[in-house]
Amino acid sequence: MPDESIPPTDQSVLPLFSRHERAFEQFRFVYPVLSRRAHGLSLGVNLNPDKVCNFDCIYCQVDRTSEAETTFVETERLLDELDIGLRLILSGDIYQTHKFGGTPAALRRLNDIAFSGDGEPTTYRNFDELIAECAKVKRRHKLDDVKMVLITNASMFHREHVQRGLAILDQNNGEIWAKLDAGTQEYYQLVDRTAIPLQQILDNITAAAKVRPIVIQALFMRVSGEAPSAAEREAFCERLNEIVAAGGKIKLVQVYTVARRPAESYVAPLTGAEVDALTGLVARRTGLLATAYYGSANY
Ligand code: SF4
Repeated sequence: MPDESIPPTDQSVLPLFSRHERAFEQFRFVYPVLSRRAHGLSLGVNLNPDKVCNFDCIYCQVDRTSEAETTFVETERLLDELDIGLRLILSGDIYQTHKFGGTPAALRRLNDIAFSGDGEPTTYRNFDELIAECAKVKRRHKLDDVKMVLITNASMFHREHVQRGLAILDQNNGEIWAKLDAGTQEYYQLVDRTAIPLQQILDNITAAAKVRPIVIQALFMRVSGEAPSAAEREAFCERLNEIVAAGGKIKLVQVYTVARRPAESYVAPLTGAEVDALTGLVARRTGLLATAYYGSANY
């Protein structure tokens, strides 16, 4: 029995996304991911199909060796894909597909809609409008419990349209996962390779965290065989303490290492013991909740 409150999808796009196992492969902007960390499915939204980013992280997993097939966000198509993606998950049809057929029963639930993709989502110039439209689709499906997660490098939070977008997220069970990979400008430059100073990122994170609690995502790795130094690890904890001292609220620090093929061949993962040690250090030095993620088995 169809839900009459949900308007039918544009009939012109439906044949593209008929209920067969290749449906998601035809999507350009929306992609489902089975996330053990989220204990369910995450429906990703890619606002950077051109693969352009204002950072150039040495561990980035976006394949920039091949040219992007799609260069512009097509709003109507993106919203259709989101709508159809939600229908496939909510109906359970997604578990009839080859890719998701083996999903354990306990993980057969939708956890979130995540804005990430192949670049920095907040650089999309209609970020606020797009977030508002996606929130409408979520509301139409009566998914108030489903989070809207923004996975971001925090470089654009000082822009007005981004602040408007963050406020819309706040009203729609939103969560900000802001990345912070260093405690010093020098290490940040080595890892994130951007013209935007670390201080701008710290100021942006602090300002956003004063308005709502945020999650910090920290990815540490071995660079040319070298794990981050003890001084760098301490500096990272100090930056977190400074954010909190300035009135920022951090609800969780996620400590990661490299899980998939990185952009640069001289990048390698930390060992599980090293990730655990760093997570423990963060918890001790800051008093914040910190969790460790080790590799591909966790995502
Ligand atoms: S910010 Fe994200 S998308 Fe951009 S280069 Fe870094 S890891 Fe890649």
